[in-house]
Amino acid sequence: MAEFRITVIPGDGIGPEVTDSACEVLKLVAKTSGHTFTFNEVMAGGIAIDTCQQPLPEETLEAARQSDAVLLGAVGGPKWDGLPGNMRPEAALLGLRKGLGLYANLRLAILFPELKAASPLRPDLVEDGVDILIVRELTGGIYFGRRGLAESAETLEDGTPKGMEAFDIETYSEAEIERILRSGFISAMERRKKLTVVDKANILETSRLWRKVTERVKMDYPEVEVDFMYVDNASMQLLKRPTSFDVIVTSNMFGDILSDEAGMITGSIGMLPSASLGASGKPGMYEPVHGSAPDIAGQGIANPLATILSAAMMLRFSLGLSKEADRLERAVKQTLADGWRTVDLAQGDKKMVLGTEAITKKVMEAYLDE
Ligand code: NAD
Repeated sequence: MAEFRITVIPGDGIGPEVTDSACEVLKLVAKTSGHTFTFNEVMAGGIAIDTCQQPLPEETLEAARQSDAVLLGAVGGPKWDGLPGNMRPEAALLGLRKGLGLYANLRLAILFPELKAASPLRPDLVEDGVDILIVRELTGGIYFGRRGLAESAETLEDGTPKGMEAFDIETYSEAEIERILRSGFISAMERRKKLTVVDKANILETSRLWRKVTERVKMDYPEVEVDFMYVDNASMQLLKRPTSFDVIVTSNMFGDILSDEAGMITGSIGMLPSASLGASGKPGMYEPVHGSAPDIAGQGIANPLATILSAAMMLRFSLGLSKEADRLERAVKQTLADGWRTVDLAQGDKKMVLGTEAITKKVMEAYLDE
């Protein structure tokens, strides 16, 4: 039986409520599997600013580095909105990504058939549910490239001075592309073995390099069916035939936009888990896609399912406990199939609406019932 160290960063707003839920579920997984999970709770975000005047204290980063995996709630809130960028709670997220070398962001967009009424798409398009994994490159591309802002000396064709001029440069190296592609291929091998590389290769040189590297890397994964799609087409196809996608691999900016679009198909931000992974053997970070939801914090009504599903990703990707991960995902599905909802998912019968703690208990019961 193995021992795993999990760093828990509850953060702000509903963060502590949803991480508490996920930890309760993880304790049950430990008890039933015989493995030992040790939880170490540390601070980041607004609470860390209030307590130690910085969004990401060095002890937090060090604790994260020393662990097998990190579970994060959410950071931020109106109280800290006026602070300068590097002192805002969200700076903790960038610091953790950088400090842990997390270059792959995996976002699952799952629409459980039981929740299809919550999707903005026509029911016949999502009849059998949706299950898409978006693998987004997280530390390169245009968000991290050279940038600048200066007064231009030029004019438009009609003589109008251009005024201020800004640029942001997209750069990708073969090595950066290869490692994110491999994350995609490995995920595809564990899923339905279909991988779509989304790019803009008709215009961008970086995209053409992505395609070239893909042609080489795909030789190592002959079972995976690979196709390429321009990002404009991908954004349409996600709405037109969402069930045709399995794994999408793409650059930082395209992944940022497409993962929000795919997330919306599922109808509720409270259902979307994510994983951020670095080199193998290094700790991954797992968090719900939603923020700290200050409007509902402290009311006990936050939907914990995105964080519980993030814990399932942690079991699979960082702790190597795939069987337990599958079982936990089935328990969440069963809870929904039994009709239980949190307030954000509710569409009718108020009797089936539960608070954060109560729906967590239902998931744990479903896990035990297997
Ligand atoms: P949000 O995701 O916090 O909330 C958007 C809406 O969704 C709100 O109405 C909220 O009540 C609802 N919601 C979100 N999660 C829910 C859940 N689990 N259950 C039920 N309802 C839920 O986004 P926002 O309002 O734009 O941001 C609030 C704060 O969170 C801001 O300070 C923002 O910077 C921060 N934020 C943090 C992260 C993160 O920590 N990773 C991500 C996004 C936003």
